[in-house]
Amino acid sequence: MKPLTLGDVTVTSVVERDGPWRPPEIMYPTCDKETALAHLKTMAPYVYDAAQNMLVITYQTYIVQTPHHTILIDTCLGEDKGYGPPHDFPKQPWLDGMAANGLSFEDIDYVFCTHLHIDHCGWNTRLIDGRWVPTFPNAKYIFSRKEYETWEEETKKGAHPPGNVWSQNCLPIVEAGQAMLVDDDFMLDDTIWLTPTPGHSPGHVCVNLKSGGKQGLFSGDMMHHALQCIEPDWSSCFCWDADQSARTRRKVLDSVADTDTVVLPAHFPGPTAGHVVGDGDTWRFKFLDD
Ligand SMILES: [Zn+2]
Repeated sequence: MKPLTLGDVTVTSVVERDGPWRPPEIMYPTCDKETALAHLKTMAPYVYDAAQNMLVITYQTYIVQTPHHTILIDTCLGEDKGYGPPHDFPKQPWLDGMAANGLSFEDIDYVFCTHLHIDHCGWNTRLIDGRWVPTFPNAKYIFSRKEYETWEEETKKGAHPPGNVWSQNCLPIVEAGQAMLVDDDFMLDDTIWLTPTPGHSPGHVCVNLKSGGKQGLFSGDMMHHALQCIEPDWSSCFCWDADQSARTRRKVLDSVADTDTVVLPAHFPGPTAGHVVGDGDTWRFKFLDD
């Protein structure tokens, strides 16, 4: 994405991986493939690879610079986690992206995770001398308490996912005293706050931004692809509660539709950011560069 200014805040992203990823009918188990293909023909060319029948999905971390803080939102998959294909992405692009933005690990004041799936908390920790330690030594990490405690329980049950995600990426942050386990409507200050958006995961949150009369919404995995603005009832194969995910999606899309709020989803490719506009009974995603 191109760096974006909202009031006194700048937003950009560091990309870990992007490109064609999954067929729509795999990503959305309840979708009608012909309907999906008809919608995709009407959408920006960078959201779908027709030759491979794959949705284009980006993995990225947002960098938010407010007058007071340097904040990361979602931390991709990270390095040395032991993941096999297709999640064994090369890690240098993410590290290079941080450096290109003039950031060292010490510069980060807060890390927000919209949820605690494999691709949203990876760089929370690094493996140093055989131990998982916080990557950002001066940061407080903001986790939804409900999200954290649910994955703690699931991990104790041996569920996979998250498998070792909680053990490697989340527990070491708490043990280091750098975690803030917060309510789902936590407010950092009058610029940054959370809203509960459960469904994709039990304690999924969106991160709101407001500055100088401008608004942004980091929507995490409330939706994975712009198709879901047109078909909000299509929940992904990764959703914890597909029905709740759809209800949340409709509520959030309705709340930002036809407003100036810039929506910044975790996985949208190309310009990434955009506005939600009403279209009949549902919506469309209008990328900023369209
Ligand atoms: Zn994700």
